Amino acid sequence: MPRENLLHEIGRGHIVAFNILNVGRFSLGAACIGGAKNEIEASARYAQERTAFGHRIGEFGLIRAKLAEMAIRTYALESMIYRTAGLIEQATEQALEQTNSQAITGAAAGKADETHKTRQTMKLLEEYAIECSICKVYGSEVLDYVVDESVQIYGGYGFHEDYPVARGYRDSRVNRIFEGTNEINRMLIIQMLVKRALSGSLPLLAAGAKLQEELLSGPSLSSIPSIPSINDSSQGQWSEEERIVAGCKKVFLLAAGAAMQKHRERLADQQEIVAALADIVIDIYAVESALARAQKAAGTSAPRGATSATTVDTGGNAPVFAASGGASTPGLGTGGVGTSGKGTSGIGSAGGGPGAVGIGGGGAAAVMAAAARVLLHDGAARVESSARTVLAAVAEGDLLRTQLAVLRRFAKREPADTIALRRTVADAVESANRYPF
Ligand SMILES: Cc1cc2nc3c(=O)[nH]c(=O)nc-3n(C[C@H](O)[C@H](O)[C@H](O)COP(=O)(O)OP(=O)(O)OC[C@H]3O[C@@H](n4cnc5c(N)ncnc54)[C@H](O)[C@@H]3O)c2cc1C
Repeated sequence: MPRENLLHEIGRGHIVAFNILNVGRFSLGAACIGGAKNEIEASARYAQERTAFGHRIGEFGLIRAKLAEMAIRTYALESMIYRTAGLIEQATEQALEQTNSQAITGAAAGKADETHKTRQTMKLLEEYAIECSICKVYGSEVLDYVVDESVQIYGGYGFHEDYPVARGYRDSRVNRIFEGTNEINRMLIIQMLVKRALSGSLPLLAAGAKLQEELLSGPSLSSIPSIPSINDSSQGQWSEEERIVAGCKKVFLLAAGAAMQKHRERLADQQEIVAALADIVIDIYAVESALARAQKAAGTSAPRGATSATTVDTGGNAPVFAASGGASTPGLGTGGVGTSGKGTSGIGSAGGGPGAVGIGGGGAAAVMAAAARVLLHDGAARVESSARTVLAAVAEGDLLRTQLAVLRRFAKREPADTIALRRTVADAVESANRYPF
């Protein structure tokens, strides 16, 4: 192999290969959006054509709820992909600026400069590996859900190859298998988080230990920072939603801290626990991305970091998902759901964002808000349930009872009328006859 034909440094090809996997995982998640939109459109149209019991099936509440949920999960996926793309783009631009300024000073030239750029790209992609895995798992599972419901809406014709959804159902399935199976990616998400926690770039250990310390030192609950009661959080249109997201992050901290304390370096062997923790992380990232986009569409987003609601602390100032901060802060590490600033440039836009169809600007924002609230409330319930599973597996007796009491406190929220919210989204799907955003 002539030296000039080498694509990267000798002996470091595996790093390129791993990062190609990261890009592939992100792209796979993005590609699932297109498939899901096609299925929603086909199903929305079919629901207007097919009649049963003297009605178009699109008039039935259960069919409308399916169409709404299909759009809602696709909206979360799309928001997550925009957000991740924006974060990677911002970091890439900054890295390029840095490289260019170094080149001007003559620090690197020619081939060495190329190597430097490749190294920087590798480093950057590695930094977003967690987000890429999340996009892969969430995207493939959203698409699987959407195609499954499409088949259901088509009834018997859903099985028939003459209709479009049978192929979608078949083709979707492989997405959970390649680019690393979803089981492997769930393991990776937590493995990478733990690695960053241990290296100190993510203050997860300190925050978890502090929470555990407070739990054990008693007088139990009184020393634990409480989430304001629902009635206390009247500041701002989105304050309640932000408080719930912040609570979810505390729930993760509680469950992950308890699991790490019990199993320490052998946590990876407890795959069911690891997967439950990964599910919490995935739900938080999806909910937070959807909420950020809805806030931006409504023109009510706070500047990044301007709100402390989503910066998890345990009485002190230790953030949970935050990495090193600054420009290279990965998506999981954002200080909040605020959407202004370069880092989230990809997330929608005021008035409904690119591609909003069938509903005007303000209307699109209202439908996005309804979608985000469904995701938030259902996501928070799943987060609580996953944490309960983890805690019951790692603690018992008084310790478990105390941890469950803390969990209830962090997860406290009033229920939202998600049936009404889904109906709002169903109306938008019906009037657009497709994915409405
Ligand atoms: C259509 C298609 C195209 C493909 N294209 C490519 C390609 O272009 N390039 C390429 O390199 N590969 C490609 N693959 C291969 C694909 O990446 C593998 O199929 C995938 O990684 C799963 O590996 P496996 O099939 O060996 O399954 P296995 O590794 O045998 O897994 C079987 C099951 O066991 C689970 N499992 C395995 N290990 C663990 C573990 N440690 N913990 C928990 N659960 C585990 C898996 O999650 C899965 O559910 C393709 C596959 C398909 C079907």
